Amino acid sequence: VKERGRAGFRFYQPQMNVDLLSRMKIDQAMRQALARGGFRLHYQPQVDIRTGAIVGAEALVRWHDEELGELSPARFIQVAEESGFIVPLGEWVLTEAVRQAAQWHRRGLDLVVAVNVSAVQFQRSNFVERVAAIIAAAGLPARNLELELTESILIQDADEALLRLNALAALGVRLAIDDFGTGYSSLGYLKRFPLRKLKIDRSFIQGLPADESDAGIVRSIVYLARALRLSLIAEGVETEAQRQFLLQAGCDEFQGFLFSPAVESAAFDALLEREALP
Ligand code: C2E
Ligand code: CA
Ligand code: CA
Ligand code: CA
Repeated sequence: VKERGRAGFRFYQPQMNVDLLSRMKIDQAMRQALARGGFRLHYQPQVDIRTGAIVGAEALVRWHDEELGELSPARFIQVAEESGFIVPLGEWVLTEAVRQAAQWHRRGLDLVVAVNVSAVQFQRSNFVERVAAIIAAAGLPARNLELELTESILIQDADEALLRLNALAALGVRLAIDDFGTGYSSLGYLKRFPLRKLKIDRSFIQGLPADESDAGIVRSIVYLARALRLSLIAEGVETEAQRQFLLQAGCDEFQGFLFSPAVESAAFDALLEREALP
């Protein structure tokens, strides 16, 4: 009773009302933006840490609202998850990223396009069907699509998640764990689930190479990934010293401002061309 009273009291604080109002406003504006084609995708290169070749791209959603300005996805994705709008937005992101991946594929580029999947989206009963339909419609080989899942997806309903992940893996879609090391799950799922890749969270990369606990955590993740035959990518790599550490530790790929931020597809094409020059 005391708990409920406190929660009720908190709800009526002016600060909370402002927040609720702005969440409703953002949600409303997002729905209009989707209908009017106001969302964009940017692509951040994923790079082979040994050769420096671009091997893939992470699709990251962007939204500039006339009135609200440029909103960070961290903010509006959370609002969209709370309201359920993440389902149509996530479907748009997947469709658009797959369309772009298919275009690269037709041009003879063998890139893996990584798409973020929210837990709310993953838990929809038709999620696997939708993924299958979207890649089939675009004519994209399934192995050119990677889904970035968070650990929370795997623990919420582990049995159902296992069925879905097996169905996605059977299609040929690649599965990666995003923000690895920040979740609460046990390591058992790494063995049970049909995963291809772990993405080391940026929070463990930031302190490299000097911070000894970060260095130890990263080395342990490399060791774990090797034992489980999982490929490994580091996110948020900003300095050459971080890249050197990761290379020596045995990480396979990296992504981060050191190489490039996420850019629009035309600028991504320019990065690919620069790479193709003799
Ligand atoms: P994330 O999946 O962990 O994506 C990586 C974030 O780190 C991106 O931020 C990216 O721009 C940023 N980043 C990349 N390299 C560096 C670096 O070297 N240094 C630093 N400081 N940051 C770097 P962004 O685009 O603002 O996205 C934030 C989060 O929003 C994403 O985190 C992801 O959780 C979510 N998000 C973005 N797009 C989508 C989407 O289409 N669907 C879903 N469900 N979530 C998305
Ligand atoms: Ca991600
Ligand atoms: Ca991430
Ligand atoms: Ca992260």
